[in-house]
Amino acid sequence: MTRKNIFYQTVVGVVLGGVVLYFAIVELNVYGQKPSGEKISVHQSESQSLTTSDNTENNSTAVYSAAFVRAAAENTRLKDSLRWDFGGKLQSGWSIYSALINQTVKTAGSVGSPEFARAISVWQARSQLSPTGVIDRETLEAFIKIWQSQRLNRSTFTSPDKLYSAPISDFYDLTRNAELLKCERRTYAAYRQMLQAAAKDPSLSLKLTKTGELASEEKFLRIISAFRSREYQDQLRKKEPNAGRAQLAKHSPHFTGHAIDIYVGGDPVSTKDANRTLQVQTPVYKWLVKNAHRFGFYPYFYEPWHWEFVPGK
Ligand SMILES: [Zn+2]
Repeated sequence: MTRKNIFYQTVVGVVLGGVVLYFAIVELNVYGQKPSGEKISVHQSESQSLTTSDNTENNSTAVYSAAFVRAAAENTRLKDSLRWDFGGKLQSGWSIYSALINQTVKTAGSVGSPEFARAISVWQARSQLSPTGVIDRETLEAFIKIWQSQRLNRSTFTSPDKLYSAPISDFYDLTRNAELLKCERRTYAAYRQMLQAAAKDPSLSLKLTKTGELASEEKFLRIISAFRSREYQDQLRKKEPNAGRAQLAKHSPHFTGHAIDIYVGGDPVSTKDANRTLQVQTPVYKWLVKNAHRFGFYPYFYEPWHWEFVPGK
């Protein structure tokens, strides 16, 4: 090896080393700091306990940086007070969507915990948002955009040969008109599979028959509404003339036969905050948030009962 070669190799080595160091610093700046310059970092002990598992004992003893503790306090404040608009209506907070947020950022941490704030900051960094750990309007809008993108996004009518008339025993209202029991075939089959999986989960405490089917008196997970004709949708709209856009759209995904309203507790389809707050805390709703996608169902975030069959997502 000549002296000249050694010289060039040394120069290349130094330049490469510099480039690596530069990117390491840039990375730290992007992911390690809030725009204000406040550093959000994970302590060694915390990252160890978080990577071991979702073990509650480990997480509760984790040491979080002061920034995550402050972010947690801010989340506790904003979860019921953040002002935002949806469907022409002023909304207060985002606590109703906590289960969906937990699922999206993949954490079991409760809303007011530093662990939750940390998971939010990681998700924000990946989503090109400031990794503050706080769910502000911008972050909430980013969540909503993702949830809405998972939906059917159409309201075209399904051809009658693809519709199946489900047995009345599957419905919440056992006196429902026989004309209103239709559902798109594949959607119904996926719903039945989902029902069987839920029945096998003892944590839901569903009332079952001896053969493991949902007992007739069990109301949870029953179908409230599936396929709707335009005429029926218009009737519903007339019944609730003051319902906002968020409640009853002129063009409904129910036209496709792929949307089903499922009983998750409370008043079956009331968008009142108090009702939705109750619904999102039921074990059945929480189970759907975690499991429905395995059967091809995705939620409409605003209506805890409304699920759409979107296979292949
Ligand atoms: Zn619906």
